[in-house]
Amino acid sequence: MPRLESTTRMQALMAEAFRECDAAAWDPGRRVAWCSSVGPVELLRALGFAIFFPENHAAMLGASRAATDLIPAASAEGYSPDVCSYMTSDIGAFRHGVTALSRVDPSITAVPRPDVLVYDTNQCRDVLDWFSFYGRQWGVPVIGVSAPRGVGEVTDDLVASVAAQIRGLVSPLESIAGRRLDAGRLREAVAVSRDTSILWRRVLSTGEARPSPLTFFDTCVHMGPAVVLRGDPRSAAYYEGLLAELEGRIARGEAAVVGERVRLYWEGMPIWGRLRDVSDLLARLGACVAGSTYCSSWVFDTLDPDAPFESMASAALELFITRTDAVKERILAAEARRYSVDGIVFHDAKTCPNNSNCRYGMPGRLAAGPGVPSVVVHSDLNDLRLHSDEGVRLALEGFVEQCTEASP
Ligand code: SF4
Repeated sequence: MPRLESTTRMQALMAEAFRECDAAAWDPGRRVAWCSSVGPVELLRALGFAIFFPENHAAMLGASRAATDLIPAASAEGYSPDVCSYMTSDIGAFRHGVTALSRVDPSITAVPRPDVLVYDTNQCRDVLDWFSFYGRQWGVPVIGVSAPRGVGEVTDDLVASVAAQIRGLVSPLESIAGRRLDAGRLREAVAVSRDTSILWRRVLSTGEARPSPLTFFDTCVHMGPAVVLRGDPRSAAYYEGLLAELEGRIARGEAAVVGERVRLYWEGMPIWGRLRDVSDLLARLGACVAGSTYCSSWVFDTLDPDAPFESMASAALELFITRTDAVKERILAAEARRYSVDGIVFHDAKTCPNNSNCRYGMPGRLAAGPGVPSVVVHSDLNDLRLHSDEGVRLALEGFVEQCTEASP
């Protein structure tokens, strides 16, 4: 599979971001905030915090296959092997005194020590437990938003209630940052996030082309700046370049999967420790995973600089992961049509029930209603003790064959 030329630029940008965060942690004049992936990042940017994203760090531990060996250290402290393996591998890394950041730059020897940890429970409770571990460890505040889950319609009342919680963070964050919130800087950060989101959505939408110029596995890697540099103008600049490269591929008819004959959609978490293996397996079968719910989770294009708190609240409430099954089914059926896929791969990630949507009959309902076939692969995001290469291979080979036979 041809490598995207933008990859080198993306790696350099991510390394720059990690080095900046590390430098901020050593600088007595700077403040560091840890933030959950869909927390109120723009508010933190406007207050001048250097921001670290533990979920990104945990994904790096998973992708480097270090996670599985680290988890037992968290289990020894009472964190069940059944709870989020992002959390347990990250805590395990901390206990072992190692960080995935060292692989990017050996001069970084530890995760940046936070002055505050900021969460949003719209995705799960695990982020709060995870951040609370570090809050106790360093004696620093853990504050955030307790957002509802299982959201059907995103009503004005819900938005107002979450917006009020985000507003409630301003005063404690100002005290920690040692500066007042500047409304202009907040508007600017929200505008940059929105512009980045629009570009990231356009990048993802190139997967609608036949053949697709990119795969889900590419987007798992290239989503880094959308997560780590959300609200930072460098991320928008990066996606302009990536988009141009992908549009060039489409114009030339270049496929991410040479000989693409089956198109799939990925639902759920990546299997970080087998990203390359699953990608290569599907490529050999001529199957392109053209889209995913996971990588679409960093699209916040309804952010509005003129209504920063309300639009941050609605962006968090509208996320796929926070919604009811009925809404998720409508979204998946629409995504299957949009990407013209032959079927959906549901990943049942054993330690993330929050982002595994195949456990309550959804695959059957999608087959019976809109007629979207699917397969379930059983694995995990980071804990490879819960993964079987053979099991995943057999499930995917069988499903691709089924899709091929069903193709006109
Ligand atoms: S959504 Fe899943 S993977 Fe993400 S922090 Fe929560 S439990 Fe972990």
